[in-house]
Amino acid sequence: MKGRLAALICPECRGLAVRKPPRSLTAYATHEPLPVEYTHADGKPLCLTGGPSGHRRATPILSRSH
Ligand SMILES: [Zn+2]
Repeated sequence: MKGRLAALICPECRGLAVRKPPRSLTAYATHEPLPVEYTHADGKPLCLTGGPSGHRRATPILSRSH
């Protein structure tokens, strides 16, 4: 029995994303509008993703299958 629990992943690298406010704002560039609520499992910010308004932090997506 596996794959029943949906996991949040980073859409760019498909790595596990965890909800964890950053411990220190100094780890983020000053132009970031808000602290990132989700990080990679290792604590690093989610990847940047391109969009019509420029690059921004990727939004975690649900992954139901491995
Ligand atoms: Zn990533």
